Amino acid sequence: MKADPRLIVALDAPDVETAKAWVAALGDSVSFYKVGMELVYSGGLPFARELIAAGKDVFIDLKLHDIPETVQRASARIAAIGATFLTVHAYPQTMRAALAGVTGTSLGILGVSVLTSSDDADLREAGYALNVRDLVARRAQQAAEIGIAGLVSSAAEAPMLKALVGDRLKLVTPGIRPADAEAGDQKRVATPSGALAGGADYLVVGRPITRAADPRKAAQAIIAEMARA
Ligand code: C5P
Repeated sequence: MKADPRLIVALDAPDVETAKAWVAALGDSVSFYKVGMELVYSGGLPFARELIAAGKDVFIDLKLHDIPETVQRASARIAAIGATFLTVHAYPQTMRAALAGVTGTSLGILGVSVLTSSDDADLREAGYALNVRDLVARRAQQAAEIGIAGLVSSAAEAPMLKALVGDRLKLVTPGIRPADAEAGDQKRVATPSGALAGGADYLVVGRPITRAADPRKAAQAIIAEMARA
């Protein structure tokens, strides 16, 4: 079975050896990997270069947020390794800076609108007047106006975002669980076909594949479900 370019496997591993073992087990069934903070802090960037040299697409999930000059320069460094996506927090200043850093390269900037760990009470506590839904919608509009590549969104938000900005932004959706899998710490989960039906363009799947007894078989079951969606 061929890899589905819409499936991104999250390499949430403490060290490169573990991540390498997962990639070896998945072989040609997966073509797109996400490298996040945990792995970046333990040698993940040289490993990301190796994946890219081996023909894989790589999403660097660092959720950058700093003064514009720093974000612009950091984004340019990530573009230089040949990555496909990089996340930043979806503050207008941060999105503009990241975009400036990657202009002319093939790196797409993804905005994280509101962390899915935040609810309305968390936003109030942090000083925001808007609730989660309204802040997500506002930042999605700003992301589209600024012209970044896409948004990371929960499957629950995807239909609303698809209607609002789906013609301009790609939606990348984590929190995916095949019908028979455990949710883990994900509270709002969607099946692969449910997320695609809701408007997701890419699915991010971690533990259901990497922690499966047979990761390749688990990935192929998800790819088969995506093909039917
Ligand atoms: O193991 P699991 O499939 O839950 O992994 C999901 C991946 O997506 C993790 O790397 C997690 O950090 C990431 N993610 C998420 N929810 C968000 C943003 C990113 O689960 N809102």
